[in-house]
Amino acid sequence: PAEMFAPERINSAGVEFGDRAALERLTEGVAAARAPAEAASVIDGVAQGGTRRAVVSPSDARTVVGSVTEATPETAAAAMLAARKGAIAWGKVPAERRAAALERAADAMEASRGRLIHLLQAEAGKTLDDAVAELREAVDFCRYYAAQGRKLFGAPQGLPGPTGESNRLSLRSRGVFVAISPWNFPLAIFVGQVAAALMAGNSVVAKPAEQTPLVAAEAVRLMHRAGIAPSALHLVPGDGAVGAALVAHRDVAGVVFTGSTEVARHINRALAAKDGPIVPLIAETGGINAMLVDATALPEQVADDVVTSAFRSAGQRCSALRLLLVQEDVADKVIGMVAGAARELRLGDPRDPATHVGPVIDAEARTRLDRHGAAMRRAATTHYAGEVPGEGHFVAPQIYEIAGPEALTDEVFGPILHVARYHAADLDRVLDRIEGTGYGLTLGIHSRIDATVERVVSRLATGNVYVNRNMIGAVVGVQPFGGHGLSGTGPKAGGPHYLTRFATEQTVTINT
Ligand code: GLU
Repeated sequence: PAEMFAPERINSAGVEFGDRAALERLTEGVAAARAPAEAASVIDGVAQGGTRRAVVSPSDARTVVGSVTEATPETAAAAMLAARKGAIAWGKVPAERRAAALERAADAMEASRGRLIHLLQAEAGKTLDDAVAELREAVDFCRYYAAQGRKLFGAPQGLPGPTGESNRLSLRSRGVFVAISPWNFPLAIFVGQVAAALMAGNSVVAKPAEQTPLVAAEAVRLMHRAGIAPSALHLVPGDGAVGAALVAHRDVAGVVFTGSTEVARHINRALAAKDGPIVPLIAETGGINAMLVDATALPEQVADDVVTSAFRSAGQRCSALRLLLVQEDVADKVIGMVAGAARELRLGDPRDPATHVGPVIDAEARTRLDRHGAAMRRAATTHYAGEVPGEGHFVAPQIYEIAGPEALTDEVFGPILHVARYHAADLDRVLDRIEGTGYGLTLGIHSRIDATVERVVSRLATGNVYVNRNMIGAVVGVQPFGGHGLSGTGPKAGGPHYLTRFATEQTVTINT
């Protein structure tokens, strides 16, 4: 069984930023790919008309990246109708051909590296290393699900039974999947959802986040060209009303969603309120992710890993560290070193390879984070609050010490870190609190005591636990990603069990 889940496959290669020639090839490729982009609803491969609006860059509102023609609830209904027809044909395409198309899509994305990275940077404000990593993740999702899909959907599994009877188990597609993806991984999560649903033989109506339609449209173009049938993959860029229309549609057979807990609840309620089949929801949401640092941890390494976990990607990852819990004995030293490391971060234009922290996604996010920062400066101890560069939606890294872990009650989705101290004797209470948030996405532990690590790991069911390292950047097939409770419905993206959630199972028993 172990080997069943270990396909022959390697993840895609990165870029060594220390290698000047490689870095130059990369940045030149990105610079050459800066033509304006366009997105529109695409139904059966045909772009749909409507009202256009400009898409501007989060790092500078004067920079127009391209334009989008957004879907309306009517467009969404038309896409659902087309997808219902498409599901019948795509479900009959042999798994091998579906897998091969995904692999060609992966190759096409690698070949379009400059264009995709340009869009990730311009539309989503991604730093260069984040954009490179995100493209790799999208490519890896395609190849990973292709490899898994060949095994799971290729041939039925024979099952033992009494003499005179043959039994087999097959995975089958569900029908039309609605895929609703977030702006924080507008390529990787968009492609991951779509690729998984397609590999399982479903047709897909994909709604990318309102803020990031352009990179999604580019991915769909590449997937269609790579051999994903236009009738199997439809795109409807738009706002929440479009998502709501899709979810409420009678033909939806499954929904895959990444975003806020609140929206996941809305979707769950909308699905439950409908007559007809019971529709599964695959949801990955947020977290109040904690990192525990005990007195045996190495402070330099902690400082590095905390800064990476809390501030890279401007803290706009579901996995990001929100609550640093430091054992009292080493707290002053550790907090001081973390603040020192935060001071070294360069905030600014994400296209500059030296930038560590880019902008947050939009004005609304900045206002919300600025308000939280101001409240923290009144109520908590400020250990660090950086400066923001001029134009654009920038929020500087900030570190606030709060009274205790209970004082943080909501996910703050940005580069704001909350710190609290704990006494070694109170570890159980701290673990109760982490569990008591109801979230269970990522957890960091820095400790050189194996028994402490084991105690924490066995106590908490958090989805992704990272020991003595940073806690972001889960790698496809290596750290399958996802959590439970308020953090989601559990299946892990990039893991061996993910595709089964997109399928139904059928046994056939033949009396021979
Ligand atoms: N998988 C990403 C990581 O490990 C986070 C995904 C998300 O933010 O939704 O950092």
